Amino acid sequence: MKAIVCGAGIAGLTVAWHLERAGGEVELVEHAPAFREGGYMIDFYGPGLEVAERMGLRPRLEEVRHPVHEIGFLDRDGRQTSRLAVKAGFAGVISLLRGDLARVLAEEVRAPVRYSTTVAAVRQDGGGAEVDLTDGTRHEVDLLIGADGVHSRVRELVFGPADRFVRYLGHHVAAYVLHDEDLGRRVGTRYRMLTEPGLMAGAYAVRGGGLALLFLSREPGPALPDDPAGFLRQRFGHLGWILPEVLDRCPRPPALYYDQVTQIEAGRWSNGRVVLLGDSCQAVSLFAGHGASLAMAAARTLADELGTVALGTGELGTGELGTGELGTGELGTATLGDLSPALARYAARMRPVAARVQASGRRFLPWMAPSGRLRMATRDLLLRLASLPGADRLFMDAFSPGGHHLVR
Ligand SMILES: Cc1cc2nc3c(=O)[nH]c(=O)nc-3n(C[C@H](O)[C@H](O)[C@H](O)COP(=O)(O)OP(=O)(O)OC[C@H]3O[C@@H](n4cnc5c(N)ncnc54)[C@H](O)[C@@H]3O)c2cc1C
Repeated sequence: MKAIVCGAGIAGLTVAWHLERAGGEVELVEHAPAFREGGYMIDFYGPGLEVAERMGLRPRLEEVRHPVHEIGFLDRDGRQTSRLAVKAGFAGVISLLRGDLARVLAEEVRAPVRYSTTVAAVRQDGGGAEVDLTDGTRHEVDLLIGADGVHSRVRELVFGPADRFVRYLGHHVAAYVLHDEDLGRRVGTRYRMLTEPGLMAGAYAVRGGGLALLFLSREPGPALPDDPAGFLRQRFGHLGWILPEVLDRCPRPPALYYDQVTQIEAGRWSNGRVVLLGDSCQAVSLFAGHGASLAMAAARTLADELGTVALGTGELGTGELGTGELGTGELGTATLGDLSPALARYAARMRPVAARVQASGRRFLPWMAPSGRLRMATRDLLLRLASLPGADRLFMDAFSPGGHHLVR
């Protein structure tokens, strides 16, 4: 099987890993000019962590994880109003930078990545797809995988304009990593969050003397500001704590990540020889906190279903992750025939889980970014209760949307 994967992110790298180990010929195209380091802190757990374990990546993830001992909520002067001690209940969670998760995946992927490149056009006939890339090359492939995130180019080319798929969640999000040992020491390995109605700023010290910063603001519309760094200064600069200092040194994109907070709900995930994967069709948003995990689970599910077609024997066709062995070169040798049933099964397995996680994210939204002081006070009370012995597990489950049973 010959496949082009558009987007060398979490989903794209994971599916490339699986397909190439099954004998597939894979190439990645990525519109960023180079590998994307850093980004923002993510909590990685659930089905994605299980996939990573099956890929043998757990030891590397342990090396790059960041210990989070406490989550503290601050007022506008930097005084802590409530805290959540991170104890045994969170043992199954790996906190790390998105860029570090991508790096661990990329280290294990052999497929070449064409940077500064994207898909320019796609044509399909019965037996394959012809893909034109923006570097001027043309490729005949069995499958084009659109793993190019919430603003997917493949989705736009093959499935329609973004406004058909995007649900705007009323917020903008920004993140960057600032290299400053002194600031890192001041914040420490405690996740610090300052909340004001409609605004949230978070900071966490990362390895090598840096500080990972996150900003969330309630905004009436999805349109992004022309000068995101200036906009952040205007929205957050009047608050105290370390914010004036770190915002004075806010970088410009791409070092600054700035985007609208959205969920993606796509009616169809495949069309002939083109299939969507990860955030491009199932983005759940940072409010749900499962996106990377689900992206990896979806990548393995897709590879699993493609394996059933290649073998034609049902050996990989139990429909359960982890029951099939994808390491024997099946996808390289078999005649593929019609992929539609396999792609439909992949979507049927993933879509309900994504929908559940999305719904949970929408429920969590008012608590992560409270719009008023009453809700902030309620959240602080809940957090105080959650710091009682044993309650952290309950608290986590209450806000956790499940999906842990995806990898069976
Ligand atoms: C602030 C924040 C916090 C989050 N916290 C968590 C968390 O705690 N836990 C969790 O599991 N998830 C979290 N997520 C979600 C998670 O990061 C995403 O769901 C996950 O990265 C999705 O993987 P993906 O591969 O589909 O997309 P991405 O990781 O975004 O990768 C897409 C790739 O495609 C590339 N690309 C984009 N457009 C094109 C194009 N036109 N052509 C070619 N390439 C293109 C991009 O450069 C990128 O490399 C968070 C997200 C944000 C923004």
